Amino acid sequence: MQQTFGYPQFRGLQADIVANAIAGQDALVLMPTGGGKSLCYQIPAIARQRMGHGLSIVVSPLIALMHDQVRALHEVGVAADYLNSALTMEESRAVETRAWRGETTLLYAAPERINTPRFLDFLDALHQRGQLALFAIDEAHCVSQWGHDFRPEYRQLTLLHERYAGVPRLALTATADAITRADIIERLQLQEARVFVSSFDRPNIRYQIVEKTDARKQLLRFIEDEHDGDAGIVYCQSRKKVEETAEWLCMQGVNALPYHAGLSAEERQRNQDRFLREDGLVMTATIAFGMGIDKPDVRFVAHLDMPKNIEGYYQETGRAGRDGQPADAWMAYGLADVVNQRRMIDDPHSPASAEYRQVMRSKLDALLTMAEAPDCRRQRLLAYFGEQSAPCGNCDNCLNPPQTWDATEAARKLLSCVWRVQQKSGIGFGAAHIIDILRGKATDKVHQHEHARLSTFGIGADLSEQQWRSVLRQLLALDAVQTDAEAFNTLRLGPAARDILAGQRPIHLRQAAPRQERGSRRPTR
Ligand code: ADP
Ligand code: ZN
Repeated sequence: MQQTFGYPQFRGLQADIVANAIAGQDALVLMPTGGGKSLCYQIPAIARQRMGHGLSIVVSPLIALMHDQVRALHEVGVAADYLNSALTMEESRAVETRAWRGETTLLYAAPERINTPRFLDFLDALHQRGQLALFAIDEAHCVSQWGHDFRPEYRQLTLLHERYAGVPRLALTATADAITRADIIERLQLQEARVFVSSFDRPNIRYQIVEKTDARKQLLRFIEDEHDGDAGIVYCQSRKKVEETAEWLCMQGVNALPYHAGLSAEERQRNQDRFLREDGLVMTATIAFGMGIDKPDVRFVAHLDMPKNIEGYYQETGRAGRDGQPADAWMAYGLADVVNQRRMIDDPHSPASAEYRQVMRSKLDALLTMAEAPDCRRQRLLAYFGEQSAPCGNCDNCLNPPQTWDATEAARKLLSCVWRVQQKSGIGFGAAHIIDILRGKATDKVHQHEHARLSTFGIGADLSEQQWRSVLRQLLALDAVQTDAEAFNTLRLGPAARDILAGQRPIHLRQAAPRQERGSRRPTR
């Protein structure tokens, strides 16, 4: 490490992981982005080659990432190569020849390449000569359908274990909750492997989750007040929204670029290059943007739409502040996010299995719970990854503890209202209409359906529309209310409604934060 890479010492668990691999043992390594996973297999690869074990294979899903790594290794004088679809036939042959002659220390390969007969023959031949030193499986969560980036080609990687028994394997990932972890172990047959879990904390990132009122304006205010001229990433759910948001930000004087899978390859590349090279650009993107992009000084990551789960949230926000300097993770979320995510999971036209939907639902619920919680965000985030911690002092809830209110009675009113409306009209209605009834608003629709006659008409006039939306969000998260995707997102009671109606389940909600005055900066860090 000192001679080749020039680092004075190992970080965190690196030394143990390296020693374990050099000794020829399997391992599963969980380390956050930027934690230094690469060295964990690069050093064993160098050491094991010197010990006479030959070549190390690194499975990596992203061509761009392979190129970067190989270039960086060349810079420090390590013989590395890659095999992927970007190479011509002759180039591939040359790479194989070098490896065959023992001139290569690390060979990076895409997972689909590993599964080809040609490459397997090549590995077989090396194995017979005792010249396979190590398999490193990077981004190992890709093997799990519960992970956020499932790649079917990863499934085939079990064959490494079966075909090359005795060659140590190192699976590495930056994201894995308990269920994904267990799945990686099972899928890659790592039952005997040691598991190294680093802390997932990113102390320099300040987490902030706000209630969506006018998301764009809230975003603009956040950027202007706290990140004027900084580089940042704004995640949106759809391509259309990416484009609209980028355009709008530009009109407001923010230097924003769009990025999504619907743009031409050239435009994507151009925008990405500019983001990496120039200062102070805001990349407005779908989640297609980010994996493998190593820009150290991203000062904020903003979510205009809620991600699918905590792993996605962690992964995306983790792109902020890799240089260790203070950075912000900001998210605006609201009722529509909950409804949308639920709808996608429950979509009757998707081929997903019931089991899959159930797992996705519980993952979404964990994120909703975190978003609604009045206590430390980081504590909850880390707890999700199985890590205990104390309140952090560097998230919105720690810095400005929110008030909570007892919404049990309000929740019961809302549930009764959903029930009465359905009983009277035989069909369900959407959130806005239900809230109008509760607040006693005599709209045209209320007249048309004679909903002013309901016993629940006006029983919630004491609460604001925003408060009702917050109650409804919570009830959706708890599955006390469900939306009917087939019928224009109308509401109906869910399985958890009974307990709440019976008064057996208290509900406490965070009080909506008072609107911050423009220009009132948060305390300096
Ligand atoms: P990951 O793959 O876990 O996201 P990398 O392997 O790319 O992280 O490492 C992140 C950064 O940390 C790289 O710039 C790397 O050179 C640096 N790094 C890794 N280990 C050490 C160390 N022991 N000392 C100093 N810098 C390190
Ligand atoms: Zn906190």
